[in-house]
Amino acid sequence: MKPTIALVGRPNVGKSTLFNRLTKSRDALVHDIPGLTRDRHYGHGLVGEKPYLVVDTGGFEPVVDEGIMFEMAKQTLQAVDEADVIVFIVDGRNGITPQDKIIANRLRQSTRPVWVAVNKVEGMNASVVCADFFELGLGHPVAISASHGEGVRLLMNEILEDFPEPEEEEEADHPIFAIIGRPNVGKSTLVNAILGEERVIAFDQPGTTRDSIYIEFDRNDRNYTIIDTAGVRKRGKVTDVIEKFSVIKTMQAVEDANVAVLVLDATQEVSDQDARIASFVLETGRALVVAINKWEAADQFQKDMIKREITRKLGFLEFAKFHYISALQGQGVGELFGSIDQAYAAAMIKIPTPKLTRGLEIAIERQQPPIAGKIRPKMRYCHQGGTNPPVVIVHGNALEKVPDSYWRYLEHHFMKMFNLQGTPLRVQFKKNV
Ligand code: GDP
Ligand code: GDP
Repeated sequence: MKPTIALVGRPNVGKSTLFNRLTKSRDALVHDIPGLTRDRHYGHGLVGEKPYLVVDTGGFEPVVDEGIMFEMAKQTLQAVDEADVIVFIVDGRNGITPQDKIIANRLRQSTRPVWVAVNKVEGMNASVVCADFFELGLGHPVAISASHGEGVRLLMNEILEDFPEPEEEEEADHPIFAIIGRPNVGKSTLVNAILGEERVIAFDQPGTTRDSIYIEFDRNDRNYTIIDTAGVRKRGKVTDVIEKFSVIKTMQAVEDANVAVLVLDATQEVSDQDARIASFVLETGRALVVAINKWEAADQFQKDMIKREITRKLGFLEFAKFHYISALQGQGVGELFGSIDQAYAAAMIKIPTPKLTRGLEIAIERQQPPIAGKIRPKMRYCHQGGTNPPVVIVHGNALEKVPDSYWRYLEHHFMKMFNLQGTPLRVQFKKNV
């Protein structure tokens, strides 16, 4: 499992700057997708061979005890409990503030490893600045500059030292789908509707609060595993002390699944949180089915509104199938399986090299890559580099000059040509040597 790193600290210390830097290496593999939410808080990163997940907890406001800030603090506390590693960021130009001390007090109670990152120290004497922050009682501070990149690699190497390199994952032989979405959209109700009729083969109790429940079952002679991120049903009495929604649990579930089922609420607006979860799925490259739940309860105005909002806020999910369902009444659940099967098959497809290369030739015949300067990029052949998502590796010359628009054109072309519904597809360029 990839370790999850939570970034905490008071506002303006540089959390989102560090988040962007930590997710940059990975983002480089995925070119810009128009409309993908800019305001990201969960992402993937890679240092050397070691991948990790990272969460920017946003504002940690322990002094305010009501309203939105309180909610944020609650989510942050939860992330602190669920993460594998905490990076506590402080501002090296400001010295310790009372808020830093409050956060440090809370972090000292944590059983997780905590790293103090003293940020904004470019051009300063690192050891002098760090000495000030020993007082926080969280061990040896590490000096960094999130905006300039100084010290970040060193910090990450130290953090990841104790985590093993990931093993080659075995490919799943059946759909493993995660039911995800923000609180109260109807995830538990949907899980119950799905499992109500099916034969449960195996059932995995969560080990910790951040673990989802994994349930293997048969449906129409096919084998499935559902990952239940709501997962409060079986916990009995302790239910109300556990936050139902967990960002880290959702991230891990998406990682473990090969298909994500994103549940939205038809009676509510599409929220930023919905968009963030969706963009995380897309970054991970998982197949996706979207279920707009509570359809029976939505009036015409709400139906029109959610359809508009989906186009506006979730336009980057055009590869996914959308279903309008009622988990409560069990409507549309069967059709959902049709799309899960289809998305899984598309994600796992294996296309022979000659077929793919022929596909590339057809794409070029229809539209050549534009000339850049005096050079026209030359694409020669391609082969498949992976599944879930399918990756098409294109070989040729001057491929670094291919613009994003052509990149997208190629992705669309392959998806259409091989009838891939429900999975993203990635095109990567390899220079010939
Ligand atoms: P957040 O509120 O903790 O997410 O903080 P931001 O990442 O938004 O950063 C707050 C401000 O600090 C912004 O103006 C950043 O440009 C600035 N900042 C972040 N990292 C550094 C750094 O390493 N050095 C300097 N000088 N400024 C930084
Ligand atoms: P979760 O937090 O995402 O697991 O959401 P729950 O499954 O606990 O559902 C939240 C609330 O929405 C509960 O009161 C459910 O009864 C209700 N709900 C779930 N599905 C539907 C539906 O299809 N229609 C309607 N009207 N209500 C639903």
